[in-house]
Amino acid sequence: MICDNISVNQKGRLAFAGLDTVDLAKKYGTPLYLMDEDKIRENIRTYKTAMAEYFPQGSVPEFASKAFSCKQIYRIAKEEGINIDVVSCGEIYTASSVGFPMENSFFHGNNKSDSDIEFAMDNNVGHFVCDSLDELGAINSIAKQKGKIQKVLLRLTPGIDPHTHKKIATGSVDSKFGFAIETGDATDALKNVLDMTNISLLGFHCHIGSQIFDAHPFMQAAEIMLDFVAAAKKEFGFDCQLLNIGGGFGVRYLESDPVIDYKEMISRIGEFLNKHAEKKGISLPKILMEPGRSIVANAGMTLYTVGSIKEIKGYKNYVSVDGGMADNPRYTLYEAPYTVALANRMNDKKDFIATVAGRCCESGDILQENVAMPKPCRNEILAFCTTGAYNYSMASNYNRLPKPPVVMIKDGTDYLAVKGQTFDDIAGLDV
Ligand SMILES: *Cc1c(COP(=O)(O)O)cnc(C)c1O
Repeated sequence: MICDNISVNQKGRLAFAGLDTVDLAKKYGTPLYLMDEDKIRENIRTYKTAMAEYFPQGSVPEFASKAFSCKQIYRIAKEEGINIDVVSCGEIYTASSVGFPMENSFFHGNNKSDSDIEFAMDNNVGHFVCDSLDELGAINSIAKQKGKIQKVLLRLTPGIDPHTHKKIATGSVDSKFGFAIETGDATDALKNVLDMTNISLLGFHCHIGSQIFDAHPFMQAAEIMLDFVAAAKKEFGFDCQLLNIGGGFGVRYLESDPVIDYKEMISRIGEFLNKHAEKKGISLPKILMEPGRSIVANAGMTLYTVGSIKEIKGYKNYVSVDGGMADNPRYTLYEAPYTVALANRMNDKKDFIATVAGRCCESGDILQENVAMPKPCRNEILAFCTTGAYNYSMASNYNRLPKPPVVMIKDGTDYLAVKGQTFDDIAGLDV
């Protein structure tokens, strides 16, 4: 199986985190998002212990909460003692509302409005990660008005191509994110920010992309960033306390994807960082990493009910389900691959090849193509594995479809973490 929380039970049905998925679909209805809380905590601990072991003291993971944002995940992050990334006032509000210690949060984004900045400061967001001088100026003056000194990291682009999909690559010089090191913009920004009275610069950040399977691009980025840290010390006497090397570790969506050992990758990156810092004659700052996908993706699964089955003779077969691009837009966006299973009959021969279509009025509303499965019957359950990241958080109300509930599973017990929307949740806002 694609992940160790997925199995086939004695009834020949798909089990997730030990529970029968057909029973869960019956209990809660479909579409249904499932999240394995034990797997989320296991993933967090993998990062936490590896970073404690291989990076300088005080190095911690930040969960990039855009991957999956709801109250319960911030409670889990709080209990596990990790930091979080936030990218909007909505995420700040949600995290604050469950008492997440906001001094341990990092506010990202290439365009924070003045009201975003005020909201974040009023909610005691610990750190702002910035990549524009306009924004830094605004942060400085708003902090001055509020009598605050705001901690900031500068987001830099190291100019790395991590060989991932172009919509999820972020580290190249022409990216919308970051001050480019190569062009001298990063040095200019550093010079400017050091003169800002109400900003305390703690260090630098980079994030080169997502779904990266190899430690090498991280080392390349780390090398360029450490060179910049050394230059900042030499030219401006700046002591870098924090170096954030981003998120982006890949996850397995298909059996053919490599199995990744995150601990081993972190140890290799740590070894490289130590060596390179020594070579440059600097002490290594605290290292932050900000995984999103690799914390939650394999903790998730989505269940759908099969509806129409359409066989177009000589062309292809369609299996339509009761969800689609509204609950998972990732295939429509970038042909994201998923492992799909007919949950009712896991041991039957997979001799039917079909395109899984969503229910939205949009030809592009496809969830996956060329899926091998036993020929399904109407009302059977189709499961999409590894949907914990960028599914619920990217869901929309297209076609006025209510967002499905999120059910979490802990120690073999299921509980509702997010209620499904009602029609009144949607239409009730209309005036
Ligand atoms: C999206 C994002 C992440 C998380 O990336 P994953 O691929 O989900 O690990 C981390 N940092 C920044 C700045 C991001 O934008």
